[in-house]
Amino acid sequence: VTTLAGKKVALFGLGGSGFATARALILGGAHVTAWDDNPDSVTKAAAEGIHTADLRSIDWSVQSLFVLSPGVPLTHPKPHWTVDLARAAGVDIVGDVELFVRERRAHAPDCPFIAITGTNGKSTTTALIAHILKSSGRDTQLGGNIGTAVLTLDPPKTGRYYVVECSSYQIDLAPTLNPSAGIMLNLTPDHLDRHGTIQHYAGIKERLVAGSSMAIVGVDDSYGEMIADRLERAGTKVVRISRRHRLADGIYAEGTKLIQASCAAALPLADLDGIQTLRGGHNAQNAAAAVAACLAVGLSAEDIRTGLASFPGLKHRMQPVGTRGHVVFVNDSKATNADAAAPALSSYDRIYWIAGGLPKAGGITTLAPFFPRIAKAYLIGEAAAEFAATLGEAVPYEISGTLEGAVAHAAADAEKDDAGPCAVMLSPACASFDQYKNFEVRGDAFVSHVAALDGVTMLVG
Ligand code: ADP
Repeated sequence: VTTLAGKKVALFGLGGSGFATARALILGGAHVTAWDDNPDSVTKAAAEGIHTADLRSIDWSVQSLFVLSPGVPLTHPKPHWTVDLARAAGVDIVGDVELFVRERRAHAPDCPFIAITGTNGKSTTTALIAHILKSSGRDTQLGGNIGTAVLTLDPPKTGRYYVVECSSYQIDLAPTLNPSAGIMLNLTPDHLDRHGTIQHYAGIKERLVAGSSMAIVGVDDSYGEMIADRLERAGTKVVRISRRHRLADGIYAEGTKLIQASCAAALPLADLDGIQTLRGGHNAQNAAAAVAACLAVGLSAEDIRTGLASFPGLKHRMQPVGTRGHVVFVNDSKATNADAAAPALSSYDRIYWIAGGLPKAGGITTLAPFFPRIAKAYLIGEAAAEFAATLGEAVPYEISGTLEGAVAHAAADAEKDDAGPCAVMLSPACASFDQYKNFEVRGDAFVSHVAALDGVTMLVG
């Protein structure tokens, strides 16, 4: 970060991206004072030569900026005092995305910058866009909320493309966010614990698209349509996307087909049929947004089609990991509650379903509409008895207990199924902590049990 050379900067939050931010600021010549509630993080930072001090005791009148880590929202009770001190001294409070935005503005304001937000599907859409850009030979940097802190990416230069997933917190702390294409995928009540009302949450997300040269807005929920209208009235270029309706203007999905509509014509752009990693209506929404963004930054329809077809998918999110004859094995370990399991269950017609773990309130009662798709359920972990009671007479099931047993039995049953293609799918609708450290470890265990089966062609390494 060069834009703060010689300036004093206070920084709170020394987790992964806080650390990366501190380093980037120091490399660029800023005088950083950093702090964290966790004494171990402070010790580690100090050992790496970062100047640390309790931010209650510093002279705020000489600070040029206060940088908050993305994990530390403005409303977080602990740093509240520092936020108040910064505000009282008139010091701007920003996050790492804002520092990136300023860097881009200073050095390469024309480099394409795609920013993505929404309630669901952010990571998938972000990864898909980056994949399409990379597969067309573009110099592509992928980061933000999806994993790699933006300030550890290669620095902005002409011809380099940035694809950045933004959480509400990151948008909140990026007052001059100005992507060349901004995506708001969808907006449903979520994270309201921290953001108060849905209006406030929607307002924060709207800022990402409002600041964009081109706003790509999912209009399948009531907020999306309202926001698209409002932006248009304010003179922003808007591309509407929908997975549910034909649009007069925008990009919409009709079955697996993505169609670009304008007042002149409705042109088929791409067909997701047969792309295993982009199955389901929710992925049609993600793909429509990705296509709109890639068109916005100048890719050809041909390049986009090629990229869509080779998308490897994201780990643990409805990820096809292997095949054997008519059976595909799908890792959806990220589905840690019933709502998260619904998209996967709606995306396959015949499912050997591995579910269970540490149950959440409400269990799987809301998944009843998908029960007709389930050939048999294999129940694991602490939730097994409760899920069995919900499935009742509606779905055949067994209590497998362990994931290993569930994979073996589901694979054997699916192999004998002569009704056509089917999926053996881990989409547990439960947290993993009764049997695994986290959902990633659980998903990896699923993959290794699948790999150990005879005659499976693995699709992942
Ligand atoms: P996020 O980054 O917003 O958490 P992900 O791309 O990681 O979203 O997807 C997480 C899960 O959310 C997926 O496994 C799928 O179940 C669901 N999902 C993905 N895309 C959408 C969408 N467009 N609408 C609704 N649910 C989605």
